[in-house]
Amino acid sequence: MKRLVLLGASGSIGLQTADVVRQHPSLFSLRAFGVGRNIQAARELLDQFPVDIVSVQEQEDADILQKEYPHTRFVHGREGMNTLVSLPDYDVFVNALVGFAGLEPTLTAIRHGHDVALANKESLVVGGELVYRELNNYGVSLYPIDSEHSAIFQCLQGNRHQDVRRLIITASGGSFRRLSRSELKNVTVRDALAHPNWSMGAKITIDSATMMNKGFEIMEAHWLFDMPYNKIDTVIHEESIVHSMVEYIDGAVIAQMGVADMRLPIQYALSWPVRLPIDLQGKLDLTEIGTLHFRRMDEERYPLIPLTYRVAEKGGSLPAVLNAANEAANLAFRKERIGFTDIEDLLKEAIDQAEYKEISTLEELIETDIRTREETEIKIRRMEK
Ligand code: MG
Repeated sequence: MKRLVLLGASGSIGLQTADVVRQHPSLFSLRAFGVGRNIQAARELLDQFPVDIVSVQEQEDADILQKEYPHTRFVHGREGMNTLVSLPDYDVFVNALVGFAGLEPTLTAIRHGHDVALANKESLVVGGELVYRELNNYGVSLYPIDSEHSAIFQCLQGNRHQDVRRLIITASGGSFRRLSRSELKNVTVRDALAHPNWSMGAKITIDSATMMNKGFEIMEAHWLFDMPYNKIDTVIHEESIVHSMVEYIDGAVIAQMGVADMRLPIQYALSWPVRLPIDLQGKLDLTEIGTLHFRRMDEERYPLIPLTYRVAEKGGSLPAVLNAANEAANLAFRKERIGFTDIEDLLKEAIDQAEYKEISTLEELIETDIRTREETEIKIRRMEK
């Protein structure tokens, strides 16, 4: 029986993780979970998984729930999340948080000797160097939940690291893949949120449309699979059937295919190296699909891809700048404060103006994060006028 601590439990990945646990009650259990401000989701989860400790974002929500569930302890905020991941009696921390806030719990869990199943990209995008240093120090493992990285992880099984020629990450192209750059000027939040293949949270759906999500996945792959950036490629694949590929030195390309359902990668991160049956949204029938399409990543159409490589190769504080500017710009677009292509402009400007710094602690990253958000917010206000 694997006992899980799940943060981000009310989000898309969190709820699907709960479903995986529900499908295998003799193999997985929830030791504790955390939600943000969705206390209704906390109630529903508690009714199914009566855990003795829950974290929420705000104290007032903790107080409300405490009255309703006297036998459960409610903790809150950053401290609350750290309390959960520091518990001694569990096996895997499932990090389904969105954003930079997910990095600290990842580091804390590792420092308490717990394996991590990671859906929080920012832990690696921003903190890859710190996370890998701590993984080695504490001898614990990290398993990818992101579908592309789960695919690569599956394609690597049974092969040697030195035999890999390159990793090929597939990208659906996001909600605006049929639009030219000039047509992007006036797209709305609602247009962006209608992702053709995957049902995901709002933040990541916008990141998919700008291709920033793919940029982050390039950086994630670098850390997870110890690959230099010149061995990581992307390709547009509209159907989202091939979730990613690995090309070997003998020319063999191994792909992992499946329906677009996150419960498979979530489950594999928990069950590896074992495979388990699972109820997904239908089964993959290639004869029904008939044709799969692939095309080259167009770096003019998606300027955040070349920007990513520039940032990633330099490393240091720059990935933290890119991420913080993106979190601020993504949110501003969702609140209809700026236009879609303003996101790209803000990120490019943030990187052009950023000063490179070596990073050795979480505190330095937090400082960079806060400063970049403030600077980006000033630029957003200027754009609003
Ligand atoms: Mg992905």
